[in-house]
Amino acid sequence: MPKLVLASKNKGKLRELQELLRGTGWETVSLAMFPAMPPVVEDGATFAENAVKKAQATSAFTGEWALADDSGLEVDALNGAPGVYSARFAGEHGDDAANNRRLLRELAGVPFAERTARFRCVMALASPTGRVWTTEGTCEGRIGFEPRGENGFGYDPLFVLASGQTMAELPETEKNRISHRARAMAAMGRLLKELAMGMEQGN
Ligand code: IMP
Repeated sequence: MPKLVLASKNKGKLRELQELLRGTGWETVSLAMFPAMPPVVEDGATFAENAVKKAQATSAFTGEWALADDSGLEVDALNGAPGVYSARFAGEHGDDAANNRRLLRELAGVPFAERTARFRCVMALASPTGRVWTTEGTCEGRIGFEPRGENGFGYDPLFVLASGQTMAELPETEKNRISHRARAMAAMGRLLKELAMGMEQGN
């Protein structure tokens, strides 16, 4: 069975990926098995650049196939910001509350109709021979005027879906059905299945 290193240390993401890849013919390996792997600097201009960079670096270091993802929020009224800066929009990496406050500040005075936004996720697969594939998923919504809901993380409490609920008001199972990451992962799952079948047949 071919081995696939999952280039993420986020437990939630790893769980989702392992679940999705069950039965696809791949043995998944966590990056935690390679503690000497240096961190990859995510300095790409796009989600795809960052995801490819992480997948390639992980494959080069481990000598195995590697899968990486990058994701974030694009707000139309802010010309696509925060984009690749989503995690550090307010400065410090991963301060969700500060990021949400900054987003509301930047959108002050913008009416709901013009607060259109999407979450985007790109997944990149790198082979030990240097080939790369990417898949992408998006989830459309609007930025609300105040945070609502306790679930999820990041910008979820401000991200209003067509139903009127915020992403943070959805149960985890429902978010995992419609999210940008779920869609990118589903496409990657199909690709991995095809690749595994091809390998079995010696292609
Ligand atoms: P990463 O790809 O996991 O590093 O995500 C980058 C940043 O994008 C996160 O820190 C969040 O701010 C934002 N983000 C990505 N996916 C989601 C999501 O599903 N909900 C809310 N925020 C997200």
